Amino acid sequence: MTPPAPTPTVDPETQERIVQRLAELHGPEHAERIRRGVEQAAQRWWPEDGDAEAFAAFCDAHFLADAEALAATFRRLEGVFEQIEGHLHEVRRELTAPIDLDLGPLLPADRLLADLDLAAHVSEDLFRTKTAFLALLNFPVHTLAERLAEGTGWDRESWARSRFMDRFALRVPAAVQQETTRVAMAAEQYVTSYNIRMDRLVTPAGERLFPESLRLISHWGLRDELASYYVDPKPAGLTRQRTILRVMERIVRQEIPAAVIDNPDLLWDPETNAVRLVNADAAAGNGDLAARETDRRYAALLGIFHAVRRVDPYSPAEPTFIDRRFERDRQIPEREVEALLISVLDSPEVKDLARLIRGRLGRPLEPFDIWYSGFRARADHSEADLDEAVRARYPDLAAFASRLPKLLARLGFSAERARWLSERIVVDPARGAGHALQAQRREDKAHLRTRVPRGGMDYKGYNVAMHELGHNVEQVFSLNAIDHWSLAGVPNTACTEAFAFVFQQRDLEMLGLRSQTEDTRRKGTLAVLWNTYEIAGVSLVDMGVWRWMYGHPEATPAELREAVLGIARDVWNRYFAPVFGVSDSDILAIYSHMIVYGLYLPDYAIGHLLAFQMARRLREGDFGAEVERIARQGCITPEAWARGAVGGPLSAEALLDAAREALAVEAAVPVL
Ligand SMILES: [Zn+2]
Repeated sequence: MTPPAPTPTVDPETQERIVQRLAELHGPEHAERIRRGVEQAAQRWWPEDGDAEAFAAFCDAHFLADAEALAATFRRLEGVFEQIEGHLHEVRRELTAPIDLDLGPLLPADRLLADLDLAAHVSEDLFRTKTAFLALLNFPVHTLAERLAEGTGWDRESWARSRFMDRFALRVPAAVQQETTRVAMAAEQYVTSYNIRMDRLVTPAGERLFPESLRLISHWGLRDELASYYVDPKPAGLTRQRTILRVMERIVRQEIPAAVIDNPDLLWDPETNAVRLVNADAAAGNGDLAARETDRRYAALLGIFHAVRRVDPYSPAEPTFIDRRFERDRQIPEREVEALLISVLDSPEVKDLARLIRGRLGRPLEPFDIWYSGFRARADHSEADLDEAVRARYPDLAAFASRLPKLLARLGFSAERARWLSERIVVDPARGAGHALQAQRREDKAHLRTRVPRGGMDYKGYNVAMHELGHNVEQVFSLNAIDHWSLAGVPNTACTEAFAFVFQQRDLEMLGLRSQTEDTRRKGTLAVLWNTYEIAGVSLVDMGVWRWMYGHPEATPAELREAVLGIARDVWNRYFAPVFGVSDSDILAIYSHMIVYGLYLPDYAIGHLLAFQMARRLREGDFGAEVERIARQGCITPEAWARGAVGGPLSAEALLDAAREALAVEAAVPVL
């Protein structure tokens, strides 16, 4: 079952012959560049590109020895790619506008147009026209290890060339690519339709615990419902939380009866796992109602594993999905991410915080308390007051858009910068919750999208708008004000989230309301530490599972299930059991991300840590100037970016320091 390797077209002897000839022609001082370029191009050269002689002729004709010619070629490639990617992005934005924006009912045409993707063949066309080979022959595709070792000595042009070449790191056959897309969509479909009918859950005594019509998606909805009871107590809250935990356990263990998933006709007792019809008169379904869901969850994950493994042979520099996720996408070595996560999991601050939470709850901790949310309190203002404050200032979205320069100036940008930013941000009404859509070429604009009720704006929409504004400001500085287009953006999603969090935190202050008090800031810090602790644990499970799959490529879904549960319990027993006083919980295996978006989870933890480092810096400095300076670093490695941003490495220190101070005060405050 080893995936088929690509057929080598150019054998090592031919490559060596080309290297020797080019070195003789251009001089031995170019030998190293020639060797690397020829090897890079040969690795991605397929039979349909021509035979070995055609490859040799291409290398002879396109190797650039002259530094000036090399620089001119790079400028040309960079300029053209900005236009290609920028315009394709604009077309895509236009095609999906009716889906993304609240512009009224959809036309049948809109759904068809949303499936049109003009960008799908660009990558393959770049190889077919040999543009990609010209780039591969002349510019290195760097590994993360090279960037970390050499990057500190690079100028901006070197960084730009290095980042530009990332797009040619992989050349994957269309059939292999399509298979990964198909499998990922099937897994996403599985996850997004996995609803639990809470109103059909019963206790062993036959009692229903949840209100009629409550239907929650696993795991997001289940988790949020559970967490909401800490701030908004409900009758039988603790029993409900325990029931939700039981549901989650049945899901990860795949003991859940398949028939109860999203089924309003069945009553299910997650405690005993018994199932019966709501209406005894209704015709019974075919087969055994209690038959368990036979490892579909793990079959979906294995499907993704097998599909991405077929990409491995086409990714010479990062030969596994794990390598690609950490070294190419995230740009932080796996070991370093792991160490960062453990620095939170193992911290004494987490143990002290657990003690504080136990005191507040007045009972021993239970596994679901990883979602304790009791620090999230917006006590000073009621939701109605907040809505009114927003409406007074921004009666509708148009008012928000026209007052953007004023808002940015109040946040701390100079009048000139506030105007310049506002001219590059378009405000749109979102159909969904909201998002910030960045531009891809410098003549284009970023889009701020937030959901507003018809005819007015409320606090929820404004709060999201402040979050998205943080993204947009980063996007505009890091694209429209960047020196090299190839460096546009930030190295990692965690970096842009950090800006968004910082802007969002200033929402009340911008409404002229009393901003964060010391008390809410302290509570906020403790909430972030607890969230980071939880997500760090889940991330370690995610990472452990991928290592296990690569170590056991022939595993069956049932074997994978046992492995995932084992890994989840190991992480729990090491980092949570000593704090919770409960062993062997498999709760950490519940995240749906783990099934569909493999190895994405660590970014949430990194985002929290980085946001903390940045918030501290921005509070102390000149807000507007600092935001601009940090964003304009562009897409270097996260490590170099963090050093430039906050003067130190990516670390948990800022969060743990603040948590220690907050704990000292909070622990001294008597409960109630
Ligand atoms: Zn965000």
